[in-house]
Amino acid sequence: MTTVKILGTGGTIASRAVDGHGAVASEPVENLLDGVDPEVTVRSRDVMTTGSYRLTLRDIRLIAESVLDEAARPEHDGIVVTHGTDTMEETAFLVDLVLAERVPVVFTGAQRSADATDTDGPRNLADAVHTAADPRTQNWGAVICFDGEIRAATQTAKMHTLASAPFAGGALLGRVHSGRLSPVADPVRRATLGRPSAEFDTTRVDIVPIYPGSDPELLDLLVERSTQGIVLAGTGSGNAGAGYVEAVQRARAAGVVVALSTRVPYGPVVPIYGNGGGVDLVAAGAIPTGALHPFQARMLMALLLSHGVREPDVAAAFAADATDLKPSCTPQHPSE
Ligand code: ASP
Repeated sequence: MTTVKILGTGGTIASRAVDGHGAVASEPVENLLDGVDPEVTVRSRDVMTTGSYRLTLRDIRLIAESVLDEAARPEHDGIVVTHGTDTMEETAFLVDLVLAERVPVVFTGAQRSADATDTDGPRNLADAVHTAADPRTQNWGAVICFDGEIRAATQTAKMHTLASAPFAGGALLGRVHSGRLSPVADPVRRATLGRPSAEFDTTRVDIVPIYPGSDPELLDLLVERSTQGIVLAGTGSGNAGAGYVEAVQRARAAGVVVALSTRVPYGPVVPIYGNGGGVDLVAAGAIPTGALHPFQARMLMALLLSHGVREPDVAAAFAADATDLKPSCTPQHPSE
């Protein structure tokens, strides 16, 4: 019989309203298993029970370690992780970076709490278990399974605060409905990196959004606060206004690694513009993150820096994403 391990971490799927204080993650994962296929042997345990908006890098490392430990056990055909949607893209991406095993790791959650009459948690969890149990998903790495869609963790992001299908961006690998899985594509996976160590917990990488009138001296303040890496969430294809080129040069001179991502949800960073745009930022030493959005670029940089990787090897690690010039799927919410 197929065996799937479910690791609970909290999130809306495990949340119930607490009088006047909003929904709080409180349900152990074993209370969430009602809709899961009885044909699959399911074992479960809680790694933690928290809202993912509260996660630290240490928490994310602990989740990743639990996943890797379970994935290495030969009795498991697949792993499911229940997780809050707010930062699922960070944890799932980190797991994908370090997962060497063939077993799939399927992240899922809910947009409506466990005590809502129309909660989407049970169906998402049932779909995730089907996905993890299906032999065709071996070697898919870490994926996000939500509202019947299975997406590669890489480049996937939460794109809607409330919709039942909040995730988009990453490659659509398959669909799952009523226990039937239809594969669409195999993911292109990067070389596996070493698992995060305790160093990861305190590796400081900050994200700086660029907007009209934003102050480049924020980079200097971060350097003063001992940041190790900065990810710029540039405008458009990766641009910034007056003063940023010089600020990037100062940060680089202080030994801080700078990456250039974009605040735009779809499409890669491509240096096109001068006059302080992407061409000049890259010339100043900013590493283009390709199609990796700022939050996943931060995870990759934090993992690399925590392993002691320095430039130019950090740049080489981002190069895999930099060559991806195509958006990996079409927007799901084009009119919203
Ligand atoms: N909205 C979130 C969820 O799905 C809250 C969180 O990230 O924990 O769980």
